[in-house]
Amino acid sequence: MIIERDRAESAWYLPPIVSGLMLTLHKMIKNLLHRKEMLTLNYPEEKFEYSPRFRGNHVLTVKKDGSLRCTACMLCATACPAECITIEASEHQDPSVEKYPIKYEIDMLRCVFCGLCEEACPVDAIRMGPEWQRPGTPTDSFIYGIQELAYRPSLKGGITSDVDDQERHRYGI
Ligand code: SF4
Ligand code: SF4
Repeated sequence: MIIERDRAESAWYLPPIVSGLMLTLHKMIKNLLHRKEMLTLNYPEEKFEYSPRFRGNHVLTVKKDGSLRCTACMLCATACPAECITIEASEHQDPSVEKYPIKYEIDMLRCVFCGLCEEACPVDAIRMGPEWQRPGTPTDSFIYGIQELAYRPSLKGGITSDVDDQERHRYGI
């Protein structure tokens, strides 16, 4: 059945369409004239600066000699509610270092970015940094190992931490 509509009745939608186009045009001209006030960014050329407290991708910190600060105490893995941290410990050749991780992995697709691993660590060996990007294809692994967590190119050789050095100095050890 074909319903024939009155022309005046079927043209009711024209004013809202014109008004929508006017609004779009108004916003476009405003954005072109006041680019700094735009709410959007030209990603990836422009990136948003998050607060230093932002909990992004994990970083394993390093000592001054570039070795991992982690002592493989397992506190972070125990605190992790998503059970996405896997650590294998080994004895260190240096007798002053009790043990160190030969394997430290985080399954980034299971992580809920709660920050409990960072809170649990007694030696500032794991931090959650400002990076949030995790690009990859479906065949890529999102299980990050020591190389990715401590020495990825964006960390420029590793993030050093002297927190427990300061503690040792304070207690004269
Ligand atoms: S941020 Fe939370 S879920 Fe992710 S590894 Fe740390 S403790 Fe586990
Ligand atoms: S990152 Fe910190 S809490 Fe986790 S195993 Fe290493 S030293 Fe322990």
